[in-house]
Amino acid sequence: MLLAGGWGAMGGWGCRGPGAAQGRLQRFSYAELHMGTVFQLTLYAASEAAANQASELAFERIAQIDARLSDYHPRSELRLLEAHPAGQPLRVSEDLWEVVRSAQALARATGGAFDITVRPAVELWRQVRRTRRLPGCEEVERVLQRVDYRQVQLGIGGRSITLKRPGLRLDLGGIAKGYAADQALGVLRRSGIRRAMVAAGGDIAAGDPPPGRFGWRIGIDSLDAGSEGVQARVWLKNAAISTSGDTEQYVEIGGKRYSHIVDPRTGWGLERRTGVTVVGGKAIQTDSLATALSVLGPERGMEWIGGKRGVSARWVTMEADGVRCWRSAGYPAPGIPGESGDPAMDAQARKA
Ligand code: ADP
Ligand code: MG
Repeated sequence: MLLAGGWGAMGGWGCRGPGAAQGRLQRFSYAELHMGTVFQLTLYAASEAAANQASELAFERIAQIDARLSDYHPRSELRLLEAHPAGQPLRVSEDLWEVVRSAQALARATGGAFDITVRPAVELWRQVRRTRRLPGCEEVERVLQRVDYRQVQLGIGGRSITLKRPGLRLDLGGIAKGYAADQALGVLRRSGIRRAMVAAGGDIAAGDPPPGRFGWRIGIDSLDAGSEGVQARVWLKNAAISTSGDTEQYVEIGGKRYSHIVDPRTGWGLERRTGVTVVGGKAIQTDSLATALSVLGPERGMEWIGGKRGVSARWVTMEADGVRCWRSAGYPAPGIPGESGDPAMDAQARKA
């Protein structure tokens, strides 16, 4: 869980109004419910009218993306794609194309730890959460037959997608919120508002920092929600951060916790209690990576991320003998001042 902002009171639910004046620029904050989560825009603008107009456009853009990518809306473009005859390409919107293309690249890079065809398994675990009954082997195997990212084919040289096998169900829940946050930030920027941040639950896209500040201060919640409160802070500008973890959605059966994140290779909800934070350039990337790195776990995840430029990650796991932490090189990210970064920069950022 991410707690965004941090200077003065954040605008509450549906709040529209000026914050503290900062020279000519004033702080505004807006919140709306989209994609099953609260999207919060925080921005600095010269006037309330400019802030209201830009935020309205940003929310409209988020709603448009949701209408295309949702697995919930019966007439979403994603649902149309699922209903399209297997083996036949369908020309898709730029949004669906971008998200599926990015998801497929990560699926290939992680050997299927991230897999948007995972939806039948995700639904199985939703049912487990309701019934509190663990699935049998056959049930899991039946579901796994419908999970395979290689059955999703991208058109060469065109914006088309082919589902190679009938009955595939797609789930963009591990990537769409990050993409929507990036796009909303882009809308604000094109409206002339560069000092802005978009938070979509555990996914945040940050633009230029607040006036006179080093970056946007983001608090990262503890894995064990409620016990320790905010565990760490990072300062972010023109970058993105995401968290994934089992703090909110899990089912506990027989003393074991099963997460809403599923390992697509086993069909099983993650059992190891892990919280992952990823910092990178774009939220589409950090959102999906946080899910993938949850599946890979810290040991294999550290190996995977080693040497990759522009992204870094931190894991917190709950082991039998206590909490353990892992940080990849450069976490939160080179050039972004944070608590684990350069000490001099940290001190400066804290003062700012
Ligand atoms: P949250 O939605 O709680 O922020 P994540 O960003 O980690 O959490 O995304 C979890 C969602 O991603 C799940 O609710 C499900 O829709 C989807 N998902 C679960 N497991 C995987 C996976 N291995 N690969 C891709 N998507 C997944
Ligand atoms: Mg995510």
